[in-house]
Amino acid sequence: MSQINPSLSLANPHPPQLSVGQKVFAAIGGVGLLFLFVAWAASQQFNITHLLYPSLLLMAIGVVGYARLMYKDLPAGVKNNGNYFSSLTNRGLWAWLAGIIITGFYVLLYFYEGLLGFNEAGNTGLVQLFDPLSFALKGKAASQWFVYGTLYTLAILVFGVKFIWKYRHNKYQIIRTLSVMFFQLGFAFLIPELLEGLNSDKAYFAKDLKNMWPLNYYFFEDWHLNAMLSGGNLGKFMLVFGVAMIVIISPVLTYFFGKRWYCSWVCGCGGLAETAGDPFRHLSDKSLTAWKIERWLIYSVLIFILLTTALVLYTYFTGNAQVWFLNTYSLRSWYGFAIGAIFSGVIGVGFYPILGSRVWCRFGCPMAAILGLQQRFFSRFRITTNGGQCISCGNCSTYCEMGIDVRWYAQRGQNIVRASCVGCGICSAVCPRGVLRLENGPVDKDRFGDVSPIIIGRDEVSIAD
Ligand code: SF4
Ligand code: SF4
Repeated sequence: MSQINPSLSLANPHPPQLSVGQKVFAAIGGVGLLFLFVAWAASQQFNITHLLYPSLLLMAIGVVGYARLMYKDLPAGVKNNGNYFSSLTNRGLWAWLAGIIITGFYVLLYFYEGLLGFNEAGNTGLVQLFDPLSFALKGKAASQWFVYGTLYTLAILVFGVKFIWKYRHNKYQIIRTLSVMFFQLGFAFLIPELLEGLNSDKAYFAKDLKNMWPLNYYFFEDWHLNAMLSGGNLGKFMLVFGVAMIVIISPVLTYFFGKRWYCSWVCGCGGLAETAGDPFRHLSDKSLTAWKIERWLIYSVLIFILLTTALVLYTYFTGNAQVWFLNTYSLRSWYGFAIGAIFSGVIGVGFYPILGSRVWCRFGCPMAAILGLQQRFFSRFRITTNGGQCISCGNCSTYCEMGIDVRWYAQRGQNIVRASCVGCGICSAVCPRGVLRLENGPVDKDRFGDVSPIIIGRDEVSIAD
């Protein structure tokens, strides 16, 4: 049924109406999601495990089919119409509902896994639903983290396909998204799970090659170091590779490419933010106050993890857990609770529809803080701006998920060299004038570009001193 548009605006202020096909695919995805809830609620009454694959398949078909119909008839290019008129993407009722549901799921995941059905003596509910896949990959029953990893990977894959259709005019976005999909599916999910199955007789240690310290905050904890040291060749390799990532591989890659090599091409947190979080990127706060909070918060978390790790290592080598008034075991559990669970999980993802998709990366991630400092002071990466072409539309600032006022730089013709920039390239992808370019070049003072604003007057165009 067509909707009458009473507005005289040339730009239709109403969000586009769903086609019949989109409604069908939304319903298919909804049925897949419903299967999860049915399995969760009725695992005692029925054998629910056969619902797993249909559920995952229906959700995937629903999202991919919906996205295909959404973009297939539109020309390639910037497509963000209606963002501020949709309840889900402009902090309306649907956004709050989605935020509450996702946040609630994270609370169960971290603190009440029994309610999800996790039980070492035999799973029930949602966790039991995932047992067949867990047995197939690693030969043992699922945990709540396996459920989370599977759904997380599925989200990056299906919303990644949607993202590629949306930004198909931009080769950088296509390759970058294929990269995060590849790293999530292979390095974060399949390889660690298969290796876990092959080493089931050994104590647990992290097997995700790309999840390095300080993002993996327990890397240097005594139980983890001991598990790696007693974990055979694989354990020792993970220890050596993990340290090499911190001191050699990451600094070298950040020098050449900026923090984007990790935050926008490899990291799972960034992967979810860029794909499932894409419709919410404009919600990031661009105010000066937010920027001040960002700097205080992210560097405080960095100091917290540096201190915690130093004391944890002190305990490992001396056996002494008390340093002045600090107990190193309490400190690490506080970090795990406050930063590892609440900040990165519950707030970081649960608040996507309210605060934007990179809340954790921008305000909390200590890995982003380290990479950002290097990017700011010792990296070849910069975004160059062709100020004369800028029409001050503000698209770039609006869609910068890290809250950077890109337009301010573009208007001045100044290069963007910011610690917080994750190099996602969306500012460049949504610029209708081709003003912005992500580049690598020499590390010298020219990296910051010409900071003199271009003044366009009635009689002349000049460059201010
Ligand atoms: S400045 Fe551009 S590349 Fe950097 S985070 Fe913002 S949108 Fe992404
Ligand atoms: S740089 Fe591009 S997107 Fe940003 S304000 Fe200028 S024209 Fe608009």
